[in-house]
Amino acid sequence: MSTRMMMMMPTTATTSSSKNNNKNNKNDDAFFSRRSTNTNGKSSKKMVRAMASGGETTERAFDPREYRRQLGKSDQYTRKFLNDPEAKKTMEDEGIGYSMTGLVAQMKEKNFVHVEGEVTVKLADSYGFCWGVERAVQMCYEARKQYPTEKMWITNEIIHNPTVNMRLSEMGVNFIEEKGGVKNFEPVQSGEVVVLPAFGASIHEMKLLAEKGVSIVDTTCPWVSKVWNAVDTHARKEFTSIIHGKYAHEETVATASFAKTYLVVKDMKEASWVCDYILNGTATKEEFMEKFKNAHSDGFDPEKDLDAVGVANQTTMLKGETEAIGKLFERTMMEKHGVQNLGEHYLVTDTICDATQERQDAIYKLVDEKPDIMMIVGGFNSSNTSHLQEISEDANITSFWVDTADRIDTENNKISWRTSHGEMRETENWLPEGKLTVGITSGASTPDKVVEDVLEAIFASKAKTAAGVAR
Ligand code: SF4
Repeated sequence: MSTRMMMMMPTTATTSSSKNNNKNNKNDDAFFSRRSTNTNGKSSKKMVRAMASGGETTERAFDPREYRRQLGKSDQYTRKFLNDPEAKKTMEDEGIGYSMTGLVAQMKEKNFVHVEGEVTVKLADSYGFCWGVERAVQMCYEARKQYPTEKMWITNEIIHNPTVNMRLSEMGVNFIEEKGGVKNFEPVQSGEVVVLPAFGASIHEMKLLAEKGVSIVDTTCPWVSKVWNAVDTHARKEFTSIIHGKYAHEETVATASFAKTYLVVKDMKEASWVCDYILNGTATKEEFMEKFKNAHSDGFDPEKDLDAVGVANQTTMLKGETEAIGKLFERTMMEKHGVQNLGEHYLVTDTICDATQERQDAIYKLVDEKPDIMMIVGGFNSSNTSHLQEISEDANITSFWVDTADRIDTENNKISWRTSHGEMRETENWLPEGKLTVGITSGASTPDKVVEDVLEAIFASKAKTAAGVAR
């Protein structure tokens, strides 16, 4: 780490080896303040040791939000979006981002409809790259320009899209390898550059990287940071965070690292199970712990820690479901503790991202128009895209989720696609003869170019089929 960096960093250790960093990371739980019960029976923060710069140790409560704030003041960290026109132009030229002149751009000018031969395409009026993702990818391009020779890393896929991630690889951006669910930071060296993706990184990772002396480019979407602030508020008020999300999803892992006491519920079914437990004691504590074994904070005790809760979410979950889960916990707390005491047992925080909400609203509108088929375009590990497919399947529209146009075999009228539950399927003769209305949308991490490629493949398949019939 450069002397300048060391001077600017207030709470990190000095020159730990990678081995020590891993050790520190493993022991990170010890850095976090935890609930403990004092003699008054009230929760209090346990002071834990944190290392100060210069190798000294001081007694302080580790505060993830404060740590990130202080890190933000150092020279080794930036979350500044420069909005560099050159980076934007490069993205456009490479088909990464918004379409400016292609078919998608043209459809936006023509009421989101395009007719080509027998195919009528209807594009959802909100689709594709959200501003948080656009910003993150552009920040990565800007970082490459700013650090042209330094070795660059990303702690994870910057967004869940194969096209974008392949392009970043071509730019010399390395992905941190993961084995058995554990990331290997060993090869990352002091002076190199590490990008944190749009859905963020855990505070443990930020701390480890700061201690390694790398330059951190944090592209975390401000909406995700808003959720971190919400769980931080829960923690400060001694409320447990109920996080609506998938416990292994990187965004939820990051959010959980900013919470103190938390429980992750993946859907309404799990939330109802928890509320039944709170109201009616329908399961034993052991059964509770078994059911949520990977989805709670260290030392979680359902008998104590469900007394006061606030709800937060992984930003890509179904908006309606997050709202319903919030309402359910609110009703549960009202019933358990009385309306007059609700404020002491339930905390309202609005953490639903507008972009996710808009894309979900737009597909509800589109499936109401009953297209013959729906095309959902987006990375197969993209949570928000899976929800778009789910909405379409639930509306009983024949829906095909593809990540790239390569899934469409234009020669043989065949497609391989994915269901919202993650099964891969292959369908032959998937495009029927005659006129066809295709509804199309894309996930928040999908460049418009991928949608345009999928449409081109549909037109080509259809033209081929029509030619076959004519012969
Ligand atoms: S979907 Fe929302 S939270 Fe996620 S990157 Fe886009 S704007 Fe940010």
